[in-house]
Amino acid sequence: MEEALTREELYRSIYTHDTIYIPPHEETSGALEVALGCSWHRCAFCDFAKDPFRLIPLEEVERRVQVLARLQPEQTRLFLLGENPFCMDTSRLLAIRALVGRHMPRVKALAMYARADDVLKKSDGELADLAAAGVRALHIGVESGCDSILLRCEKGVTAAQTVEALQRLDRAGIDYFVTVIPGLGGREYSRLHAVETARMLNRTHPKNIWCLKLHLYPDTPLYRQAQAGHFTQMTPEEVLAEERLMLRELTVEDCLFEDTTVLDEYTIRGMLPDQKAQLLAAIDMLLSAR
Ligand code: SF4
Repeated sequence: MEEALTREELYRSIYTHDTIYIPPHEETSGALEVALGCSWHRCAFCDFAKDPFRLIPLEEVERRVQVLARLQPEQTRLFLLGENPFCMDTSRLLAIRALVGRHMPRVKALAMYARADDVLKKSDGELADLAAAGVRALHIGVESGCDSILLRCEKGVTAAQTVEALQRLDRAGIDYFVTVIPGLGGREYSRLHAVETARMLNRTHPKNIWCLKLHLYPDTPLYRQAQAGHFTQMTPEEVLAEERLMLRELTVEDCLFEDTTVLDEYTIRGMLPDQKAQLLAAIDMLLSAR
């Protein structure tokens, strides 16, 4: 039956939704949907984990791998879709890896989204097994290094737990790309957010720090906190000044820092520490022009 389908129809047959979201730095990876939604589903600002959490049955994952193998026979890296598929049992992740190896033998690397506590639930031995099986990178929303903000946002992990998770990934040899959300503490916690996020990240070795824009979506708890006067949203200029403070405090090495929504219209991007001075100068220029 699938023999007669067009490439477009084949692609549509392996994804639940018309649009798939894949992080920057994974654009060339093949996308294999193995889960839907987020196993946590509670962060106060989050509007993007709309699907109820569920794992795709392994037989269906295998069918999707076979289709992907027809569509991308040369593919060497896969990004596993789902908001945090790393929450799966190690045995299931390894089973998916085996299916990929059977049908897409060129694939040597896997990447996916994860929460810090998904990492903490795995032993060092499991992390080593996953790394040996080709799990090369995790994309983790750490959001903030300030526990008050993490608590208010119901992130479900503390800054110390995030550091522990990332350091364990360092030891296992699994790369990680992190996102932070400038402005997430509102005006109330702005300085703490900047300083403590930098302090947290300085104890880790992210390949990439990507600053996400905070949206207040009407159906989220954070929106309701703002309506009730418990969260004061900052202006884009205030958010950028906060981001500047975080950047100034960062001492991470060999890490790409980027923000593609600066003042809602600019992108800044540079390697740390080598291009830190240029990044700070670019921010100063943008702020002085307002
Ligand atoms: S862990 Fe990520 S996907 Fe899940 S609720 Fe929080 S922000 Fe949303």
